[in-house]
Amino acid sequence: MNWDVLVVGGGSAGLAAAVSAAGLGAKTCLIERHGFAGGMATAALVHSICGLYHLTDGAPGAYANPGFASHFADRLKECGGASGPVRLGRVEVLFHRPVAFAGLADEFLEKAKNLTIKFHSEMIAASPTLDAVEISCRGVRETLTPRTVIDTTGDATVAALCGAGCEMVEPARLQRPAYVCRLEGIPPSALDDSGRLRIARIIAHGVHSKQLPAAALGATFRAIPEDGGLFATINIEDPDGYDPLDPACLTRLEMVGRKLARALMEYLRGQDDGYSSLRVAAHPVRVGVRESRRLVGRVRVETEDLVSGTLPEDTIALATWPMELREKANAVTLRFPEGNRPCGIPLGALRAHQPETLFAAGRCLSSSHEALASLRVIGTCLATGEAAGIAAALVADGEAEPTAAQIANHRDRLLAHEYC
Ligand SMILES: Cc1cc2nc3c(=O)[nH]c(=O)nc-3n(C[C@H](O)[C@H](O)[C@H](O)COP(=O)(O)OP(=O)(O)OC[C@H]3O[C@@H](n4cnc5c(N)ncnc54)[C@H](O)[C@@H]3O)c2cc1C
Repeated sequence: MNWDVLVVGGGSAGLAAAVSAAGLGAKTCLIERHGFAGGMATAALVHSICGLYHLTDGAPGAYANPGFASHFADRLKECGGASGPVRLGRVEVLFHRPVAFAGLADEFLEKAKNLTIKFHSEMIAASPTLDAVEISCRGVRETLTPRTVIDTTGDATVAALCGAGCEMVEPARLQRPAYVCRLEGIPPSALDDSGRLRIARIIAHGVHSKQLPAAALGATFRAIPEDGGLFATINIEDPDGYDPLDPACLTRLEMVGRKLARALMEYLRGQDDGYSSLRVAAHPVRVGVRESRRLVGRVRVETEDLVSGTLPEDTIALATWPMELREKANAVTLRFPEGNRPCGIPLGALRAHQPETLFAAGRCLSSSHEALASLRVIGTCLATGEAAGIAAALVADGEAEPTAAQIANHRDRLLAHEYC
């Protein structure tokens, strides 16, 4: 089957890419291995959207990226699926309910006229020129012939399968994974600032007295205001060596995550009457992976770009989130840009050297390990996904080298028509 644009991976970036490419009239196909879109923002139960707002010294920050990112955030708030912005120290975030994110994603995907969605399908092979891409659903294989392909797999799987350049930082420095689960049985107020501090103290005591494994120290808790969502995020250190591309490691992480969640709930239930009904209400579909393989594109966003707030001429989106490094399960380092300046993400960071028909967006675009610690957040993934969708649609239509100005024009047009 022939397609103008094939989007592989329906996470935040893939959703934005597919809706934008289809909105421009490109015959678009979205492949996603799960039965819903959103990726980490739904399947891994990540429940806050970062990178939506400009950094400020305290005043509310305006949206950093006009277009799909801010439009999706507004729609999510309108349907009661998100609340905020909420200021947390120097940053602002939008808390969301993963279920609402998936529902709204469905609405956008259903409305898109030129879009075919293939859920429960996985891309498994590709020719070096990407003119033949093989997908599989339950053992039934299909070959697709796209003009352009967007890699929004999070793992740069398309790039790896077609032999385009990829890179991944050494395992010891990879951002640590985390297991996020939904909780029930306590009021949201039990997870306010003082409630979370109290739980942290109880867990520290449990670890100190050897009633809980040391890994429990990587757990944090959060209530999503207004809609009652309660979540535990358990950052995990894999003592046998973390590798997000190794099925043995991913299997260990899933099992360790469930085991830790169970142990934590059991322990907390015994510590206080207020926690006596606390339990895991829902496990994630998959463990949360913060960092994996990335495309080596025409341009690489470097750490220094983020620090100094570089604005290249071909900027297609702005990154505003500080570099949030989580190289250890129970420690986080935030590195803010000088003067709160945003960093421009160049179009070249979304496009492969060869094949030229390959684009990447979201957490597998072309960047350094540290720069990705900013670029990987959902708000930025939505914005880079949209730019990749527009660029790929233009290339499929015969425009060999689309410019950032063209992308901005088309983005404004899509926004004016609400991506229909
Ligand atoms: C524990 C954790 C906490 C986080 N906290 C925050 C936070 O608070 N705020 C924030 O903004 N960000 C946060 N992030 C980061 C953010 O969630 C992700 O970086 C972002 O959602 C990535 O979006 P994406 O679209 O690039 O990739 P993903 O969301 O990973 O989507 C990739 C999609 O591609 C699909 N796919 C992969 N390979 C194939 C294939 N071969 N065939 C078909 N489909 C395929 C996957 O099923 C998936 O749906 C967190 C991440 C983690 C793990």
